[in-house]
Amino acid sequence: MRKFEDPETLRSWARKARLAGKKIALVPTMGALHEGHLSLIAAAKKKGADEIVVSVFVNPTQFGPKEDYAQYPRDHVADAKKCVQAGATAIFFPTPANMYADDHSTWVIEDGALSGSLCGARRPGHFRGVCTVVAKLFNVVQPDFAVFGQKDFQQATIIRRMVRDLSFGVEIVVAPIVREATGLALSSRNAYLSADEKVRALALSATLKDLKAGVAAKGKLVWKTARARAVSALEKAGLRVDYVEAVDAENLKPVKTLKAGSAVLLAVFDGKTRLIDNCLV
Ligand code: AMP
Repeated sequence: MRKFEDPETLRSWARKARLAGKKIALVPTMGALHEGHLSLIAAAKKKGADEIVVSVFVNPTQFGPKEDYAQYPRDHVADAKKCVQAGATAIFFPTPANMYADDHSTWVIEDGALSGSLCGARRPGHFRGVCTVVAKLFNVVQPDFAVFGQKDFQQATIIRRMVRDLSFGVEIVVAPIVREATGLALSSRNAYLSADEKVRALALSATLKDLKAGVAAKGKLVWKTARARAVSALEKAGLRVDYVEAVDAENLKPVKTLKAGSAVLLAVFDGKTRLIDNCLV
């Protein structure tokens, strides 16, 4: 497996691969890799990529001033090992300095149709950072396709829109959420959770499961009532609700009725840790 730090060295390697007729996949991550990330590499392999580039970059521009940028888990040695085992052929560990010039001043901003709600409303500037770094990665690697996780549902929706609106010509593949046997969605931030907090966190997936079961049984649910039940279950478990929303899975617009084609998105604080989860109905 090749390792790169400098974007220009990666760019020329990727260009050669492309000229040799190889199909290139990109898997953008912030590292502290877990089975969820590795499932994206597996999806790239399954889709026939000849080269699978995993980027590992804790992107400073997508963190708010009071968020966990400094303490976000970083382990390049373990990440590289996991990438080799999972079948990645290149790993990109840029530094903030080689991704952002001191006087960086150009940003990719989704105008709010998709990024104005949910996490975008609670984390100002977050998706500006995400879109900008993903656009940069696309420009460096120029992959045939890129794999993202449904775990970050709003992010995947916004990236798809960015690719369409700005004609990136990169296919976006969205892979399902990988969960522990308990139902807890894998996340690098789960490392922050105490044993008690981890137990409380089970309410996220349990709540989603309950909503899905309700729709399966009744065909649809009035969201106002279903939401009240969900909020109450989350609070009873000891979580502080940031948002619980039902949206149209295509355009993220709020829906009044939960039915096939809707998605439910949750964000809660479990102690000091913010967790997100979602499901497609
Ligand atoms: P992150 O390192 O958290 O920025 O995530 C990098 C990519 O991995 C994103 O596309 C995430 O949606 C995806 N991802 C994170 N957790 C999971 C999971 N549990 N299952 C599937 N994909 C995931």
